[in-house]
Amino acid sequence: MPLPLHIRSALRQPSCRPRPRLSSLARRKLHLAPPWLLDDYIPRYHLISSIDAAKKRSEAYAHLRECNLCPRLCGVNRYEKTGVCLIGAETVKVNTIAPHFGEEPCLQGHNGSGSVFFSGCNLRCVFCQNHDIAHQRNGFDLTPEQLGEWYMKLQEVGHCHNINLVTPEHVVPQVVLAILHARELGLRLPIVYNTSSFDSLESIQLLDGLIDIYLPDFKVWSDKTSKRLLKADHYTATAMESIKAMHAQVGDLCFTADGIAKKGVLVRHLVMPGKEDEGREIVKWLAENVSKDMMVHIMEQYFPRAHVGKPRRGARDDDAVVEPGGVPASGETKAKVRYEDINRPVDLSEVSSVKRAAEEAGLWRFVEPARHGGFNI
Ligand code: SF4
Repeated sequence: MPLPLHIRSALRQPSCRPRPRLSSLARRKLHLAPPWLLDDYIPRYHLISSIDAAKKRSEAYAHLRECNLCPRLCGVNRYEKTGVCLIGAETVKVNTIAPHFGEEPCLQGHNGSGSVFFSGCNLRCVFCQNHDIAHQRNGFDLTPEQLGEWYMKLQEVGHCHNINLVTPEHVVPQVVLAILHARELGLRLPIVYNTSSFDSLESIQLLDGLIDIYLPDFKVWSDKTSKRLLKADHYTATAMESIKAMHAQVGDLCFTADGIAKKGVLVRHLVMPGKEDEGREIVKWLAENVSKDMMVHIMEQYFPRAHVGKPRRGARDDDAVVEPGGVPASGETKAKVRYEDINRPVDLSEVSSVKRAAEEAGLWRFVEPARHGGFNI
């Protein structure tokens, strides 16, 4: 038999509903951060007008005629000669183009990040983890139009979640032309600019409106270290200026509900052996000067590569420490290898010390397994 109307109406009042117990409320807390959760996303390169696109094209050609894309400021006409990065104007040299599964989960997702590994670099890090690509001109030449067509293949055939431009600082004009070409072909994926942060402000300005996710490394803090290990002056000041400019364009990292990043900045710092004090300064600076909501990846996978651990010039080959982690080198042998102070994997206590400093500075969005079992978005 139906209940009388006044009783039914009383039952609809909130006070008459069964109240959830506190413990169940705590369990149901989703840890979602609405400002960084997007319903949908349209890449920024679709939002610029055709007039602005034409302006970008002409600026790109102007940069190639007098190159100031990075703090090396070679000023060369790249149609006639090359600067420190050794790459000209008409084409880029690409080592690998493929879906990549070695990136952060929010970038690689299930289908991979559509990565383009450019050959050449404007830095000369003695420990470069990709030195066979970055320090040499290995690969095949592509015009900007061909590069744009490869972006389409990553979308249509690879079903990748984004186009990830790896070490692109020295080929920004060609990258810009390729994005604008792919836009006409129907590209819909966000563009990731995966950089060492050794970019000029002019370069970041040229990218404004075209890049969705900036993925800058912040490598070292002291000028002495950058000069010795990156072979670059003023790296830290340049990285600070670049990261601030990137953040001003796209803000903190945003995701759609599937956990895939669509827009914003994600800063990486590779902790170096014996240099955790520099890492602590970097994370503190990010929190105090850019954003406490910055997504940060504190990485622990440093391994000696490139010039590290190789015999000093003049030493005999059989004196070399080939790879750390093997037979411990004698004191005499160590004295004969290059960059002996970073000739070992990083210690987990060094990584923890940088992570602790980041938390103490107020950062809280880290690329790591979430403590609450969900996504850190
Ligand atoms: S990108 Fe940098 S290194 Fe290459 S030519 Fe331009 S200023 Fe020189």
